[in-house]
Amino acid sequence: MKRVVLLGPPGAGKGTQATRIAEKYNILHISTGDIFRANVKEGTPLGKKAKEYMDQGLLVPDELVCDLVEDRVSKEDCANGYLLDGFPRTVFQAEHFDAFLERTGAQLDKTVDIEVAEDILLPRMIGRRVCRQCGRPYHVLTMPPKVEGVCDVCGGEVYQRADDREETVLNRFRVYQEQTSPLIEYYQKSGRLAVIDGSKTPGEVFDDICALLGE
Ligand code: AMP
Repeated sequence: MKRVVLLGPPGAGKGTQATRIAEKYNILHISTGDIFRANVKEGTPLGKKAKEYMDQGLLVPDELVCDLVEDRVSKEDCANGYLLDGFPRTVFQAEHFDAFLERTGAQLDKTVDIEVAEDILLPRMIGRRVCRQCGRPYHVLTMPPKVEGVCDVCGGEVYQRADDREETVLNRFRVYQEQTSPLIEYYQKSGRLAVIDGSKTPGEVFDDICALLGE
């Protein structure tokens, strides 16, 4: 059983690491970004609201996020644990989630902060692609699909998300600095933070995270 939170600026490789960690530890990978994108795709009321914020690189309001995640981690497929990727994003969300954990008698094992400098991240992000169907992440330079534009796993279309375009990316960095980076201190204070150097290769970062999480 493991409950893990992945933190880090946009483009730090959270999605890539989360997929691999979830596979290795047999825990559920929960990406709030993926949940919102699925809702946008299906045109649900939540998706319609979330899209207004996402397309500008802004955070979806806290009240649309907290219950969603708390319901999700309460499902049976999370019985062996979960890895949260992209949540919490604000101190409010972190406090709300801590209150939920306390109510349910659960604890986070670790909050892993993948740290990378912004000037390394910008080119990484602009090259980012993702499968429209299964959400598998790719990169035009470092991890392209075998056939351009086609997902290796499910054959879905590999595309660039609107929020990975340059102007949106710059906005997301600003939002991260202002709203999400205070979380690092929040988790540090309660002794749950581990910092990982995200400027290494994806394989090295993965090994460092596994060394931290143990067997
Ligand atoms: P991500 O794929 O995690 O980068 O998320 C993409 C977008 O979804 C973000 O830029 C936000 O607009 C929204 N989003 C994802 N997770 C959250 C969250 N925990 N709180 C608020 N907005 C979020």
